[in-house]
Amino acid sequence: MTTATSESVGAALSGAESVSIISHVRPDADTIGSALALGLALRGRGVDVAVSFSGPEELPGTLRSLPGAELIVVDDALPAAPVAVAVDAANLERLGRLQDVYSASDTTVCIDHHVSNEGFGDLNLIDPTADCTAALVLDVLDALGVELTADIATCLYAGLITDTGSFKWARPASFAVAARLTEAGVDSAHWSRVLLDSHPFGWLPMVSQVLATADLDRDACDGAGLVVAVMGTDLLAGMDWEDGESVVDIVRTAREADVTAVFKEATPGTWNVSLRSKSVVDLIPIARSLGGGGHTRAAGYSDTGTPDEVVGRLRKALQ
Ligand code: MN
Repeated sequence: MTTATSESVGAALSGAESVSIISHVRPDADTIGSALALGLALRGRGVDVAVSFSGPEELPGTLRSLPGAELIVVDDALPAAPVAVAVDAANLERLGRLQDVYSASDTTVCIDHHVSNEGFGDLNLIDPTADCTAALVLDVLDALGVELTADIATCLYAGLITDTGSFKWARPASFAVAARLTEAGVDSAHWSRVLLDSHPFGWLPMVSQVLATADLDRDACDGAGLVVAVMGTDLLAGMDWEDGESVVDIVRTAREADVTAVFKEATPGTWNVSLRSKSVVDLIPIARSLGGGGHTRAAGYSDTGTPDEVVGRLRKALQ
């Protein structure tokens, strides 16, 4: 892997006439906020910029309201630019069907904070000690000498507050970044509410049904404990898929379990599984053994089968 610095990434970007920025599939606030912040900064310097991510999932409405969202184009409209940047994607597969557009560029840049990222770009700015990719993008913008506008800061803040769980697990450096971003004019109360504390009314009965499936196994994970909840495909009707993501934060409050698993049925029989751990269990080897990846305390994977089959496979992997 060729390791890059924020300066060398900045140099590659500053010479480019056009840049394509690619977020990961099922985009979250860190990957979209990072892409839009970088996009706005480059557009301000006269660079032709387009931002995209691979479907089929649509962009959650909350992320569509971020500044710079007009830079986002549908995946098959993303041009193969001389420079392509992947943000917050732990591997090439996370770019979905935009892998080819990315790889076709003369210079590929990878900016990410996942510890599992082995570096799939020509220039790899990867720092697992960063709480969010947005913080690494801020380093690149500093290297470019970009003025931190309120719009750019807002996009970076979106990644910072979501990937740190509202600073619940933020490292010291993130508080310094937060100070810079809020001083640049971010309406932090507004964006915290929009990104973290708002759902359609139908979310409330959906959560009640998912929580009714919660099951605790105190003996799992060598006694660290496991709590599991299952969300069938019918429950998310009429909501953004993102509204299902937040349920894991409620389930994980169970004191008796270090590990939390929420099974979300994307289409009948196909499941996205969110794993969380509090302080004991390293989720990376578990998620990898099931074909996924992520961080020590937050990881995920996909599976197919009946609810009993997919939950049973996880229980076995944790033995
Ligand atoms: Mn991230």
